[in-house]
Amino acid sequence: MLLGALEAGGTKMVCAIVKDNGEILERVSYPTLTPDETLPVLADFFRDKGIEALGIGCFGPIDLNKESDTYGYITSTPKLAWRNTDIVGYFKKELNIPIGFDTDVNGSLLGEVTFGAAKGISDAIYLTIGTGIGGGVMSGGNLLHGMLHPEMGHILMSRIQGDDYAGKCPYHKTCFEGMCAGPAIEERWGKKGVELADRDEVWELESSYIAQALVSYILILSPKLIILGGGVMHQKQLFPIIRKKTAELLNGYLETAELKDMDNYIISPALGDDQGILGAAMLGLDMLK
Ligand code: ADP
Ligand code: ZN
Repeated sequence: MLLGALEAGGTKMVCAIVKDNGEILERVSYPTLTPDETLPVLADFFRDKGIEALGIGCFGPIDLNKESDTYGYITSTPKLAWRNTDIVGYFKKELNIPIGFDTDVNGSLLGEVTFGAAKGISDAIYLTIGTGIGGGVMSGGNLLHGMLHPEMGHILMSRIQGDDYAGKCPYHKTCFEGMCAGPAIEERWGKKGVELADRDEVWELESSYIAQALVSYILILSPKLIILGGGVMHQKQLFPIIRKKTAELLNGYLETAELKDMDNYIISPALGDDQGILGAAMLGLDMLK
């Protein structure tokens, strides 16, 4: 069976044709311009490919409440041209097939749960630390939505002593994303993360904040696995420091098999750059079940 997959991002739109076994047959990427310019290009890609459903993993915020009049819309996004865009409705009309829809990070998590590092795990988190910070959550085998969907990058942080960076989030200044996403690293240290690889203090501080966030997620969501992806996490030296600091902050309060095995609890994605597109395909497949 063939599925369409769309990874809708703020800078690029990745489209793929995927078999239900996870084989990617064709993939292209288009720049994210305005909806009027970009959506028809995407629809043309998917048309006449014989796909039975389309899944979309989308930047947000988005409306995932099926009871809502604006279900399937991109809503209050800072990408102004895309505000109040009925992306699901558009593809339904153009392609006339079932459309699955979720956040990009829930999509990536579903990809890892189906084919990658979280296979068979019912409770897991996928966090991406890149241009922004976002997190997807699976709880009891279901992707978590709630009122809207989790916005795990915008949780408030305690400032680490000695750090006087003002923070970059336009809404909260010093939230997790405002302190730790790629652009915050660049502004705080005056260089892009990739050029700071050998500056230990950069990754020490970054890990302190990431560990703080993970402790909150662990205490609230009780995940059995945490996957950390995104451009910033290409700095692999972060992983051991994050594991150590997370354990220190928990301070022995929780005793579980998972937390005793930190090396296998806080891990990298297993699917390279494919979890988003494979997860999107699975969002489409779910609509056929
Ligand atoms: P996006 O979030 O836009 O989808 P990425 O996940 O690649 O894309 O994140 C881009 C951000 O991550 C940029 O701020 C960039 O500076 C940072 N980044 C990308 N690669 C690295 C790297 N190898 N080391 C540190 N930071 C990186
Ligand atoms: Zn914020």
